Amino acid sequence: MSITRQKAIESAIQYRAGDEPKLGCKEVPSYFGVNVFGDDQMKARLPKDIYASLRKTIEEGVPLDTRAADVVAAAMSRWAIERGATHYAHIFYPLTGLTAEKHDSFYSPDGKGHLTIDFSGKQLIQGEPDASSFPSGGIRATFEARGYTAWDVTSPAYLMEGRNGTTLCIPTAFCSWTGEALDKKVPLLRSMQAVNRQAQRVLRLLGHKDPGMITASAGPEQEYFLIDRSLYYARPDLLSAGRTLFGTRPPKGQELEDQYFGTIPARVLAFMTEVDSELYKLGVPVKTRHNEVAPAQYEIAPVFETANLATDHQYLVMQVLQSVAPKYGLACLLHEKPFAGINGSGKHLNWSLGGPKVGNLLNPGETPQDNMQFLVFCAAVIRAVDLHAVMLRGAVAHAGNDHRLGANEAPPAIISVFVGEQLAEVFEQLVAGGSRRSKKAGTLAVGVDTLPPLPKDATDRNRTSPFAFTGNRFEFRAVGSSQSIAGPQVVLNTIVAESLDYMAAELEKAPKQPAKFNEAVQKLLQKVLKEHGRVIFNGDNYSQEWHDEAARRGLPNTRTTPEALDAMACDATFQVFETYNVLSRREAESRFEIYREKYVKDVLIEARLCLTMARTMIFPAGVKYQKLLSQTAADLAALGKSGCTTTLDEVNGLLANLQKAMLELESVIQIPSKLSAARECRYLLDTVIPMMNALRKEADALEHICSDELWPLPTYQEMLFIR
Ligand code: ADP
Ligand code: MG
Repeated sequence: MSITRQKAIESAIQYRAGDEPKLGCKEVPSYFGVNVFGDDQMKARLPKDIYASLRKTIEEGVPLDTRAADVVAAAMSRWAIERGATHYAHIFYPLTGLTAEKHDSFYSPDGKGHLTIDFSGKQLIQGEPDASSFPSGGIRATFEARGYTAWDVTSPAYLMEGRNGTTLCIPTAFCSWTGEALDKKVPLLRSMQAVNRQAQRVLRLLGHKDPGMITASAGPEQEYFLIDRSLYYARPDLLSAGRTLFGTRPPKGQELEDQYFGTIPARVLAFMTEVDSELYKLGVPVKTRHNEVAPAQYEIAPVFETANLATDHQYLVMQVLQSVAPKYGLACLLHEKPFAGINGSGKHLNWSLGGPKVGNLLNPGETPQDNMQFLVFCAAVIRAVDLHAVMLRGAVAHAGNDHRLGANEAPPAIISVFVGEQLAEVFEQLVAGGSRRSKKAGTLAVGVDTLPPLPKDATDRNRTSPFAFTGNRFEFRAVGSSQSIAGPQVVLNTIVAESLDYMAAELEKAPKQPAKFNEAVQKLLQKVLKEHGRVIFNGDNYSQEWHDEAARRGLPNTRTTPEALDAMACDATFQVFETYNVLSRREAESRFEIYREKYVKDVLIEARLCLTMARTMIFPAGVKYQKLLSQTAADLAALGKSGCTTTLDEVNGLLANLQKAMLELESVIQIPSKLSAARECRYLLDTVIPMMNALRKEADALEHICSDELWPLPTYQEMLFIR
């Protein structure tokens, strides 16, 4: 038996419950947020006037003055040092989709042979990482490479406890010196402002004198795989590409469906418990944990928070999942498709709009007035999704997600909206209804009738829709498990802002007299639903009929990242980003450049890995088996016995095919020079990926018959079932 397999089995067997930290359930409230410099800490540690000005900054976005910053910095560093911190770091969110951090010590020499604390307001507010190696898509020439990070006061600082020390982490926005966004946070904050402004405008028209601030909220559900760490290390593809590039289906896959919501294995539960407690300390309100559909697949979900905070917390969730796993001898895989033929992982992004004064705007209310508001916002979202489907699709496009979207396990690449039967009926009645006096059954007059009660919280389990209304929010299900949720939210907030702007402009033209105004709302809703109702689909999104029907309706269907990015990089996209001050044309263009480069790098890494593994691991294993078989045949012949050579013939054939496939992949792996990034993507898609797939087919067939003892890679069977 291979040593790795032995190790994996040992660690699974030897795991003893009780190794996990003893943070019992009763204590949770006592340590929730202990590592966060949140409102409590600020209130307790800051002078009243400074606290007030900081709150103003947080709530209204007014810049923090330097005197206040110095006081905050002193209080924050004192708190951090009391809790064992030695360093601080500006955390930023570059376009790689990962987080980045540069640590500085709190201490500096005082010139007399000692150290003194050195952390000022300036250091709190602004940092200057040498960020020349972060992708900027041409925005930042190397001579102005630095860029700067600026504290995002709306996201609290927190402590990251390491084995040998603690670091104060300050969430920041990352810009070039010319003020252009180089990260995922800046556009997210801008898009939140845009949707806030337009939502308020609509609410005022609907009769709210002072609707207050409207924020977008997000509740992201994270799916992931856990496999034994020793197996993980024995797979170069998992290590370098995050997914297996080879591997035959195990005899038992997920067909029994005995995994979903099944009993959580002890080692995994221990892992989850520690993840939860680490996240609680960081103030992340994690709520749900369970087994997912595929073997070795799980999910974690927090309670929703405002978009910005939810996004920063989502990064922390991914980080903590990956950092806690090794303690339990596990590796956490966040890739969208670690195992071919086994369900992949997504990140369902639950999204809504609301505010403290007006509540959740996607909640159907109890009065005709509330219903009207709900219908206006709901229709605005539907219109936005139809008009800008290519943006939503583009926002989730990256190499990893191509393995999910379009396969029959995740929503297809066709963006449509599921509203459920009841709401669909309401829309029909709305379109049929009209004047205040129309009281016919099956019609609905806005501002007069109340809605029939709609099912709360996804009673309808249509899991095939990419964008589903689930009672009081929309759930965008096409987001990939490894992705930042910032991008999809930037798009959602921006396109909904545009739709609300449109609704507001229309309603501003309406007569003020209530009955007349209601009629105008009804007309507007009818118009929007007529024009954009084509994006609504309540059936099975996996079916061929839907693909055909969607094509008839003219809905875009871009199956791959290169196509999706090309479709998104259009004038309508640039315009809507620019109009709502979310991304300038240059910023947006640079992003497409970066996402394309990322795709090229991802695929090339995989292609090289594919070739190397085939050449140095798989082919040699096949040859060894071939030798074993041919030796046996020769031995038998020498003894005058007849032996069967069927398997040998098969192995011979497969090795010849494998050899051919390797040479073919090798011959195309070099991208022709002087191609644009978009063309490079297409080249990989059309030429390299098919060769990789062809190579895999031969290798997997070989694995299928090769001696288990000789096979150099951990198998699907081992990775998915040794727990
Ligand atoms: P399901 O499996 O039914 O999708 P989960 O409980 O796994 O439900 O996740 C639902 C997610 O949606 C949670 O993160 C939850 O906090 C979030 N959520 C609930 N209401 C809202 C809302 N109004 N806006 C945004 N997210 C919400
Ligand atoms: Mg869920």
